[in-house]
Amino acid sequence: MLTNAHVHFKETFSAADFCGQTVCFCAGSAEEWKRAAEFTRVLNSADIGTCVVGGGSASGEGRALVSAGLHPWSLVPGSVDATGGAANVDAQLSWLTELLAHNAADVAAVGECGIDLYTPELKAALPAQLHAFEKQMELAARYEKPLVIHCRRSIQYFFEYAPRLQKLPSVIFHAYPGTLAECESLLWRGINAYFSFGGSFVQKVGSTQNGEHPEVHGAQKMQTVVIRGGKHAAECVAQLPADRLLLETDAAESAAELLPAVFRAAAKLRGGSVSELEAVCGENFRRAYGL
Ligand SMILES: [Zn+2]
Repeated sequence: MLTNAHVHFKETFSAADFCGQTVCFCAGSAEEWKRAAEFTRVLNSADIGTCVVGGGSASGEGRALVSAGLHPWSLVPGSVDATGGAANVDAQLSWLTELLAHNAADVAAVGECGIDLYTPELKAALPAQLHAFEKQMELAARYEKPLVIHCRRSIQYFFEYAPRLQKLPSVIFHAYPGTLAECESLLWRGINAYFSFGGSFVQKVGSTQNGEHPEVHGAQKMQTVVIRGGKHAAECVAQLPADRLLLETDAAESAAELLPAVFRAAAKLRGGSVSELEAVCGENFRRAYGL
């Protein structure tokens, strides 16, 4: 079964698209939580694992989860969060604290949260980012939840936080941008870390690249997928220990369609079959999210 470790919930998603997939949606605001939780209830009640996919039956039981957290981008002053309100760190933290206080069983993980130092605006918001991240680590520890981490130009902070991250049931570095050596180093520090990678479609019309044969979708359009997440992503996907690898579609509009292509691209990098990789990532998803 295909597992999607991190996907941003979108209003445009249709339940049928997620047939036979196990997914963890992430919600970053009260409104997004409400909608993602409702969609998840529909998916789980419709038994997405046994519906018909692409002309055949999906194997196993699909399952949908929702994580909740404050994305670093929502902490920049003047930014607009998913509810359309101006960024207000304390109000956002209160939402998450209340959600866990009343609905902890429904929250699969805390996050996506983390530290992003990619732009001057994000750098200026570092104190707010650190404050929100520390609070979210505390919440994850208190409710024994996995933590889903967004990390951009900030890997050193997670080494500093290692003693606290080590206490969590698991830590999922989504769209992991670091090196393979840094993965090993985070694991060596006792963090129960998983590293998740996504992909994006590369559209080609009527041609192939490097003599390869991309997937054919529709009459003329040809698509292939590249693993996304910085220059080290392909190396990490190829060489990570099998028990630490996850795959995802993150914020892609075409999440359900993209996921099989991400698995094919990753299987190619690892030199194995898609079905082997499905089993590996399925087991990792189960352990990472404590199912
Ligand atoms: Zn994300």
